[in-house]
Amino acid sequence: MNHLQEYHEQKKAQNDSNTKRRVVIIGSGIAAVSAAETLRRLNFDGAISIYSESAQLPYERRLLSKQLYHKETQLSLHDAKWYEEKDITLHLKQRVIHIDTKRKELHLANHQLVPYDECIIATGAKAKQPHDFYDYENLLTYRSFEDAVKLSEYAKRNRRCIVVGGGILGLELACLLADAHLEVTLIEQLPSLLAKHMDPAAAHLLHQYLKKEKIHVMLNTQISNLYGISRAEGAELTNKKYINTDFIVYAIGIQADLDFLKNTDIKHDQLIHVDRNMRTSTAHIYACGDAVECEGVHASLWKNAEQQGAIAAMTICNKQQEYENAIQPLLFQHDQFSCFMAGNIRQSDQYIECLDEENSKFEKYTYQNGMCSGALLINRKEQIPYAWNTYQSKAAYPFAGK
Ligand SMILES: Cc1cc2nc3c(=O)[nH]c(=O)nc-3n(C[C@H](O)[C@H](O)[C@H](O)COP(=O)(O)OP(=O)(O)OC[C@H]3O[C@@H](n4cnc5c(N)ncnc54)[C@H](O)[C@@H]3O)c2cc1C
Repeated sequence: MNHLQEYHEQKKAQNDSNTKRRVVIIGSGIAAVSAAETLRRLNFDGAISIYSESAQLPYERRLLSKQLYHKETQLSLHDAKWYEEKDITLHLKQRVIHIDTKRKELHLANHQLVPYDECIIATGAKAKQPHDFYDYENLLTYRSFEDAVKLSEYAKRNRRCIVVGGGILGLELACLLADAHLEVTLIEQLPSLLAKHMDPAAAHLLHQYLKKEKIHVMLNTQISNLYGISRAEGAELTNKKYINTDFIVYAIGIQADLDFLKNTDIKHDQLIHVDRNMRTSTAHIYACGDAVECEGVHASLWKNAEQQGAIAAMTICNKQQEYENAIQPLLFQHDQFSCFMAGNIRQSDQYIECLDEENSKFEKYTYQNGMCSGALLINRKEQIPYAWNTYQSKAAYPFAGK
C-alpha cells in the first residue's frame, strides 16, 4: 500500500470508529510537552501525536549549557513509558514540511500526510548562523543535543577556541570551555557583555571574574576574516588583531525556522503571531514557545514556552486562560559568580545601588514613574527573592518625597 492509500484507510477507519478530536503537535521541546501534558491533565480524551524532527526523547534544553558532557537519558523530560501511560504518541525523526490548513493535514518530509482536528505549532528556534558562514567544519553553533555532543568532542581534542557572542549562552559556553582547560577568547561586537542587562559597575565585576577564569574578552569587535584550508585556523578581527584557533562557537542568537509555513494563511514574519490564547490567524492552528511572538513580545525563555504550551492546550479544551507576557528574570551563574537580571536596568528616572567592590558584590534597582522597573544583583544570591518580588510587584521608589 502506498502512503496515500494508507492515509485514506487511516482516515476512513478513524472517521468510522470515533469522532474524538485529534491533536497534532509539531516539535518536541518544552512547549510541545507542556501542551500534551496539559491536554491530558484537562481530561482531553482524543488522540495526541507529537511530530518532531529531533531524534531524542524530549529533553531539558536549558541543561545543555550548564555542563559540557551529557548523557542523553539524564536530560530527558520524561522516559518513554510516561508517554505510553499518557497515551501521547511520539513520532521522532519526522520533519513537517507543510500544513494544508484547508484539508487540515500535515505534510511530512517522508511524504506522509497526517490529518488533524487541532494543530499546535511548537517548533522553537534554531541557532542563528553568521551571514558569511564559511564552509569550515570547525564552525559550531549550539542549540541541540547533537550540538552539545559535537562541542564536547571538539573540547576533548583541542586547545584553543573562540566563542562569538557575549550574551548568556556565550558566557556559559566560554566558562564551560575554560573549565575544560581550553584557551578561550570571547568576542563581543558591542562595548559590553550582556549589553542589554548590564550597568558599568556590574560589567566591571563580570570582567574581573572572567579574567580570573582566564577567559580573554574582546569587546567592540567582530570577526572580519577567517583563514584556513578545510578548517578555520585563524581569525582576523575588525580591531585588526589576529587570533589562532582550533574551533569557533557562535552564540549570536536564535531564529525560528518557519519555511514550512510558506504558502499557508498562518500569519507570520520572523515569528508566528499569536493572541493571548495562543491562537494563530488560522482556525484550529495554535502556536507556542520560541517560535511565537505574543503582542509584540518574543520571550524565548523556558518558563514562557512552558506556560504558552499549557495555554494552547487550555484553549483547545475551552478553558479560557490568557497568557501574561511576564518575562522571566535572567540568570548567569558559574562557580563563584552569579548575576541576576530583571527588567530594564539601563534607563531610569531614579535608582538605588550598592557596590561592595572588595567582595565583588553589587545590587541595583531602577525606577520609572516611581515604580521599580529593573533589578540587578551580582553575587547577592540571597537577595534574589527580594529583588524579584520588588521588580514584579513594581514596588514604589522608597525615598519618594524625602
Ligand atoms: C543551550 C541553551 C540553554 C538555555 N538555557 C536557558 C535557561 O537557563 N533558562 C531559560 O529560561 N531558557 C534557556 N534556554 C532557552 C529555552 O531552552 C527555550 O526557550 C525553550 O527550549 C523553547 O522551547 P520550545 O518548545 O519553544 O522550542 P525548542 O526547545 O526549540 O523545541 C522545538 C522542537 O521542534 C522541532 N522542530 C522544529 N522544526 C520542526 C519541523 N518543521 N518539523 C518537526 N519538528 C520540528 C525541533 O527539532 C525541536 O525539537 C536555553 C536554550 C539553549 C539552546
